[in-house]
Amino acid sequence: MSVSIDLSGKTALVMGVANARSLGWAIAQQLLAAGCRVGFSYQGERLKGELDKLLAGHENVWTQQADATSEEDLSALFGRVKDEFGGLDYLVHSIAFAPRAAMDGRFLDTTEADWNTALNVSAYTLVSTCRHAESLLRPGGSVISLTYHASQKVVPKYNVMGVAKAALEATTRYLASEMGAAGVRVNTISAGPMRTIAARSIPGFGTMYEKAAEAAPLGRNATPDEVGKLALFLLSDLGSGMTGQTVYVDAGSSIMAMKIEN
Ligand code: NAP
Repeated sequence: MSVSIDLSGKTALVMGVANARSLGWAIAQQLLAAGCRVGFSYQGERLKGELDKLLAGHENVWTQQADATSEEDLSALFGRVKDEFGGLDYLVHSIAFAPRAAMDGRFLDTTEADWNTALNVSAYTLVSTCRHAESLLRPGGSVISLTYHASQKVVPKYNVMGVAKAALEATTRYLASEMGAAGVRVNTISAGPMRTIAARSIPGFGTMYEKAAEAAPLGRNATPDEVGKLALFLLSDLGSGMTGQTVYVDAGSSIMAMKIEN
């Protein structure tokens, strides 16, 4: 079965593509395939080469460095969005970070500095990017971010990142309630575990990845491509009635309390 969505004439900003495995890239590929014009922001010059390689041969794309925690960088980034596109239809926030030390030890030992870093990068930046995007987002516009089920249930070692994801999901609801008046929707995608750079920094990720697949009703993990397809649904007019939601794409693993072999 193939569903074709035409996003020609639409514009998107994707924040947080580190390499070909990034969930941001899986989403961007769907947008590009649908004919959308896409701008990309990356945190440090270190990542620019990787992004340039991914975008080789693509038209209608541009890139700009922006640390999402820097107001100055965000001002420059959304100034560029205005210059390139005039307005914005879709915003993809695919950014998270917590210091490794905060995920290695006990949650009880989380330092104030690590707490502030994790919540600032992983949740507050959704507020600040939406504020910068607000005047550019057109009616029918749509914002998505990426979350994880450790916001709702304890996932060992996810620690302060679980708290940051809970904040991101609540932030999604508050933003949706305020931005809806302008015809803009805000949702977050709760993805199952995927092998990306960010995931590699979670202690024991390999075991978590295997356990999630074993528990999932579909008997496997969801894929980045499936995240991309859900993103396309939520960003485009297909998702026009949905806002403020946390939408799962995890092969069903989050519905299981436990799995018992017969
Ligand atoms: P990824 O490829 O490492 O992408 C994360 C991106 O966030 C990187 O490009 C990273 O840049 C960027 N970033 C971190 N701090 C930033 C800052 N201050 N300003 C701008 N960019 C910053 O990993 P990913 O797994 O695709 O992560 C994307 C999103 O999916 C995250 O929100 C993550 O929590 C979420 N998610 C992932 C999984 C999973 O299992 N992989 C599951 C559910 C949800 P640098 O490389 O320069 O730090």
